[in-house]
Amino acid sequence: MEHILPENWALMYFGLIFSITCAQMLVVYVLSDSSNPPAGLGLYTVYFMAALLGWIAATLQQASETPMAVDLPAFATIFNSYILFLAAGQRAGDHRGRLPLGLICLGACLSVFFLPSARMFIVQNAAAVLFFAGIAWQCNARAWRLGNIGDAIIASAALMMVIGMPLAIYRLTVTEDLPLAQSIAFGVHSCAYALVAIGFLASVLIEYQQHLSHLATEDPLTGLLNRRGLGDALFISLAHAQRKGLSTTAVMVDIDHFKQINDSFGHQSGDQVLQHVARTLDRLSRNSDVVARVGGEEFLMVLPDTDTASARVLAERVRLDIGEHPLLVDGQRIPVTVSLGVANAIGEVDLDKLSQEADRALYLAKRGGRNQVASVDNRPVHLSTGVSGA
Ligand code: GH3
Ligand code: MG
Ligand code: MG
Repeated sequence: MEHILPENWALMYFGLIFSITCAQMLVVYVLSDSSNPPAGLGLYTVYFMAALLGWIAATLQQASETPMAVDLPAFATIFNSYILFLAAGQRAGDHRGRLPLGLICLGACLSVFFLPSARMFIVQNAAAVLFFAGIAWQCNARAWRLGNIGDAIIASAALMMVIGMPLAIYRLTVTEDLPLAQSIAFGVHSCAYALVAIGFLASVLIEYQQHLSHLATEDPLTGLLNRRGLGDALFISLAHAQRKGLSTTAVMVDIDHFKQINDSFGHQSGDQVLQHVARTLDRLSRNSDVVARVGGEEFLMVLPDTDTASARVLAERVRLDIGEHPLLVDGQRIPVTVSLGVANAIGEVDLDKLSQEADRALYLAKRGGRNQVASVDNRPVHLSTGVSGA
């Protein structure tokens, strides 16, 4: 096999960078059209566009015999690094350091017009190190906070720059070999660029995937779990209850005459009532209890290691709390009451069966006049009266 000529390697290298950039531009264009564009997309788009121009400038500089009047690749390096700092900050929701680093960016960009190449090389890479240190910090923090490996990839690309650029500067100051130092900087920069492109795509993909899995287990209106999320959340405690023969209690909560609330105060106020009830259930339950919205205006609380008597105490507390605190919406008082059904199981729990039993108890509470707690147990049906004293 014939060896590939060095100039062909260079061609392949630039071809690779351009392909990555063009594919990336296509992806960000499609993403920007979606109804829920990812955070920081605008600035990342600017970054990838500016990077494309930067690579074109670098290619032209390499191809031409005479040096450019203005060191455009140096300008592009400084500008792009700062834009990426802004983009990473916007995505991480961290806007610190924008102004001081912006001033440094401006100063470094202007020095393109009066510094000689070797000095400019030091300035451009020192500025890039500063910006990339910020990028590494922001992306690393986001990666930890959201468990997103895509941000960790961008952070590692930034770290590569933070280590690689001082090495290039060191080579220049020790050997005064500018082409060698430029080759190191160029290699490190293009590797970091490819990693940023992959990291950004991975970050967006993982974010969407996390969002979808949240949607599958979480109710978007109240932030509570939905029925599927309930099963997932209870998996361990129900296995524990089965092994130890513990008592598990379910409380089904249904808002009374909710249709009337919607009709009298509007659907939006109805939504606020749902959120208010959800907050109350969450506030009054223990950390080990699991609360879910299992229907339009129905909520299920599952209380591990709790007997019927204790669950009834909690149910009464919920009933009183909601009944005694009408919701204020736009100056209007919306009185809200709930009916609650309590059912219990010892040892192994069939969640569907337990919730059906709690539903049966709830039906009794409704039939008994609403705004009350009823329970079904191994013992005969037990009904407690509400505020009406019925
Ligand atoms: P009861 O006391 O017997 O429970 O009567 P109810 O009116 O609460 O029960 P019903 O099942 O007749 O009506 C439930 C209403 O809940 C009807 C539906 O429009 C409303 N609803 C369901 N989901 C939502 C929602 O997400 N937001 C709002 N605002 N209303 C909802
Ligand atoms: Mg209902
Ligand atoms: Mg109802």
